[in-house]
Amino acid sequence: MGKVTGFMEFERIEEGYKPVPERLKSYKEFVIGLDDAQAKVQAARCMDCGTPFCNNGCPVNNIIPDFNDLVYQGDWKNAIDVLHSTNNFPEFTGRICPAPCEAACVLNVNDDAVGIKSIEHAIIDRAWAEGWVLAQPAKHKTGRSVAVVGSGPAGMAAAQQLARVGHDVTLFEKNDRVGGLLRYGIPDFKMEKSHIDRRVEQLKKEGVTIRTSVLVGELPKSGPGSKVTNWAKETISAAQLQKDFDAIVLTGGSEQSRDLPVPGRDLDGIHFAMELLPQQNKVNAGDKLKNQLSASGKHVIVIGGGDTGSDCVGTSNRHGAVSVTQFEVMPQPPVEENRPMTWPYWPLKLRTSSSHDEGCSREFAISTKEFIGEKGKVTGLKTVRVEWKDGKMVEVAGSELVLKADLVLLAMGFVNPVATVLEAFGVDKDGRGNAKATTEFTGGYATNVPKVFAAGDIRRGQSLVVWAIREGRQAARAVDEFLMGFSDLPR
Ligand SMILES: Cc1cc2nc3c(=O)[nH]c(=O)nc-3n(C[C@H](O)[C@H](O)[C@H](O)COP(=O)(O)OP(=O)(O)OC[C@H]3O[C@@H](n4cnc5c(N)ncnc54)[C@H](O)[C@@H]3O)c2cc1C
Ligand code: SF4
Repeated sequence: MGKVTGFMEFERIEEGYKPVPERLKSYKEFVIGLDDAQAKVQAARCMDCGTPFCNNGCPVNNIIPDFNDLVYQGDWKNAIDVLHSTNNFPEFTGRICPAPCEAACVLNVNDDAVGIKSIEHAIIDRAWAEGWVLAQPAKHKTGRSVAVVGSGPAGMAAAQQLARVGHDVTLFEKNDRVGGLLRYGIPDFKMEKSHIDRRVEQLKKEGVTIRTSVLVGELPKSGPGSKVTNWAKETISAAQLQKDFDAIVLTGGSEQSRDLPVPGRDLDGIHFAMELLPQQNKVNAGDKLKNQLSASGKHVIVIGGGDTGSDCVGTSNRHGAVSVTQFEVMPQPPVEENRPMTWPYWPLKLRTSSSHDEGCSREFAISTKEFIGEKGKVTGLKTVRVEWKDGKMVEVAGSELVLKADLVLLAMGFVNPVATVLEAFGVDKDGRGNAKATTEFTGGYATNVPKVFAAGDIRRGQSLVVWAIREGRQAARAVDEFLMGFSDLPR
């Protein structure tokens, strides 16, 4: 373990942030990671508990006590090897994971958890700086081919694992760049896209063929499914893929945004979050867009209190919005969680993101009844306060209020994958419209269609990057076993 008495001697260290006025001027990352000395102190707080709950709290089961100890000893090289043994892309999770591991940390029972995510961030940034992150091409080829459809974290992890054991992997992506929601969704100020580019180069060196701007199957011509990001210049049918490849892994995410079909929805100025955010990612990448959706000079209301909503807040403030308000239909959670009740699970508590700190008025227990407008453009929202009784939402009589808005962003999550993509392969859907496949030890990630597997958000519904990496890794093992009869890949 780190330092036997470390948890009693040292306070948790938070990563630094650049000041708000400075960071609002750019789309660059603003988190200041720990330096080596701070990381050592942070790691010294790890108690190396008999049962490390953090390791179970982490969806990729990062071996946290081991890398904490190595950082404390100053053995950064072995620390990255331990970290990479469970996580293909710690620079993604070290930046944007909500860190369920920290909720599960035993110190979190009655003290501040070990800052695990910040240690992970420090290890991988040091590893890249030292030149320790190298391609690991397979020593022998198997002669088997795999198509991975969708290049988000699930697809990238699956492709990397499969290429490293010698399969010929082709990664298909309908958008013009690799990365899924990491690329087009998550703002650059949370994670700069150069981190994805470095991994794409690594994937290529490991033998992965990357085919961007290629849509596999088809998208609907109208309805919400037609609105997902799509910069494809070419289409390949599901049948063609089934003919050309020995196995197919569907990692297309859960892209269909949840709509709010109340009166006035067709007014101008009401957009899905996933129109604003990818456009800004593209502009940051140097693309020229005609008619970029802009919050500049506008009163913005973001409907949806989660991560996507918070990203709309940060982006709107960088555009120069006059005001930004975020709605959440659920009541405001407590500032402090009830630790004895919830530990080691993910607690319900008020979460204030760095984007909220940049300027945002937050309204809880509020519902939108109607969009109102003039000359076809939205000018406001008719709202009502709500209460939750026996799990049902009840309007509070007399609490209607009209709030001014000239840009409304819908950030209420995602309902499911686009159905036509699954239907093109004949893949059964579960009750929520996701690809139906289990995570069982045997037969896991396999769909009802022979040699077609599914992993990540397309299977589990909208989730987290760390879960997508886990599923991509586990699906790769399932595919390897299917192709070879056995697999040495970790499960
Ligand atoms: C705005 C926003 C912010 C988020 N913030 C966080 C965060 O801070 N932390 C966190 O952990 N998670 C966050 N998430 C969730 C996280 O991004 C996702 O859970 C994760 O990216 C899912 O990975 P995936 O690989 O399953 O799918 P995705 O990342 O959705 O990737 C799927 C890819 O498949 C492609 N595709 C789909 N169908 C086809 C087809 N037919 N042919 C070719 N290509 C296809 C899509 O274009 C897409 O690029 C956020 C999500 C959003 C929308
Ligand atoms: S990937 Fe997320 S849950 Fe796992 S150790 Fe890193 S921050 Fe914690």
